[in-house]
Amino acid sequence: MARSSPRKKSAVNYKEEHDEPAKKPSAASKALASLTSAAAKIRAKPATKRKADDDEAAEAKPAVTGGQPKKRKTGKTKEEDAMPLSDRTAVSSLKKAMYIGAHVSAAGGRFHAVANGTTPPITSEAKDLFMSGCSHHGYKAAEHALPHGSYLVNLAQSDPAKATQAYNAFVDDLTRCEQLGIKLYNFHPGSTLGDSRDAAIGRIAAQLNKSHKATSSVITVLENMAGAGNVIGSTWEDLRDIIALVDDKSRVGVCIDTCHAFAAGHDMRTPEAFAKTLGEFRKIVGIKYLKAFHLNDSKAPFASNRDLHANIGTGFLGLRAFHSVMNEDSFCGMPMVLETPIDKKDNKGKSIEDKQVWADEIKLLESLIGMDADSEEFAALEKKLQAQGAAERQRIQDQVDKKGAKGGAKKAAGAKKKTKNADTDDENDQA
Ligand SMILES: [Zn+2]
Repeated sequence: MARSSPRKKSAVNYKEEHDEPAKKPSAASKALASLTSAAAKIRAKPATKRKADDDEAAEAKPAVTGGQPKKRKTGKTKEEDAMPLSDRTAVSSLKKAMYIGAHVSAAGGRFHAVANGTTPPITSEAKDLFMSGCSHHGYKAAEHALPHGSYLVNLAQSDPAKATQAYNAFVDDLTRCEQLGIKLYNFHPGSTLGDSRDAAIGRIAAQLNKSHKATSSVITVLENMAGAGNVIGSTWEDLRDIIALVDDKSRVGVCIDTCHAFAAGHDMRTPEAFAKTLGEFRKIVGIKYLKAFHLNDSKAPFASNRDLHANIGTGFLGLRAFHSVMNEDSFCGMPMVLETPIDKKDNKGKSIEDKQVWADEIKLLESLIGMDADSEEFAALEKKLQAQGAAERQRIQDQVDKKGAKGGAKKAAGAKKKTKNADTDDENDQA
């Protein structure tokens, strides 16, 4: 499911955390469900040829991610999912080979219904379907699928029983990725839960080393974080220090989430700021570890440590940052995954997901490739999108300002308890 409603998602996570963690589908099985649904979507397309879309073999495919646990939907949504949202652009027709996709839902997928408390093995039927879906569409699953690990799995966990549970869930996902030929597996590094940073980083690396020995090829990809609470991974140094302790460097990588980076204080708003941030990443982490992107704008201001995804161009990050990303040669060929909000209200006031938003954002991002950022076209686009997000930016800015004022007083009083406000961040302390 889309991480479109951080509030809802976190609440679900939090509640389920103690009750039934094992009932969640693994990221890989969700990726499988998602991919097959993506394949169905493309198959459902009318056979008429379009100028930008006649090269099926080179078609851009969504970089598939696992997503969050979600209540099972009925078959009704399957039909919806099978409707083409927009014609895919052939990557070969773009000036740069950018593989943009969305954080697709497993809803309506056939493989993630789990009732018995354990995650079932991947059936050979499911595997065949995934493989044939990939080859039929020229989709290099190995390169462009990016399943997302559960936010509940904390590899920094120090409690032995919980650490074992986290490890088992992690390895189970890696094993599934390998069965499906998926090369990259994205996860949040973990939370110190109040312990020292170095100890937590040591435990994350130890778990990674063990998991690499238990599997054979999948690359474990650390996602950078926004920096709330005890979360590890908001600084490039955190990522560097984990990687330094990983024995097999070919099995570890980094996924940059643009929203998290910005919220953590890595600016990208101007070409100069982008170059500086990228330079720091190169120097501290190393570009060879960069494997993928999560493309999100930010509803929260710079360095606020808030993890609130906004639609592209509507947030504090702004369209210029995405222009820089889309025109950066060293990012070519990497999976780029949208995790932007797509929740809308239908005419009865019920919250629905509008995947057209992602289809449009993919087109928007593709249009930035080679676009002159000093052109009137760009300025108009930038202005329009900023206007769309103005109210929401102001709302979150007010929250941040208020919290800043309160936060000072609280810290002085030694208060540790977290307050739940109207917008719970995407990134919570992990279990
Ligand atoms: Zn992300």
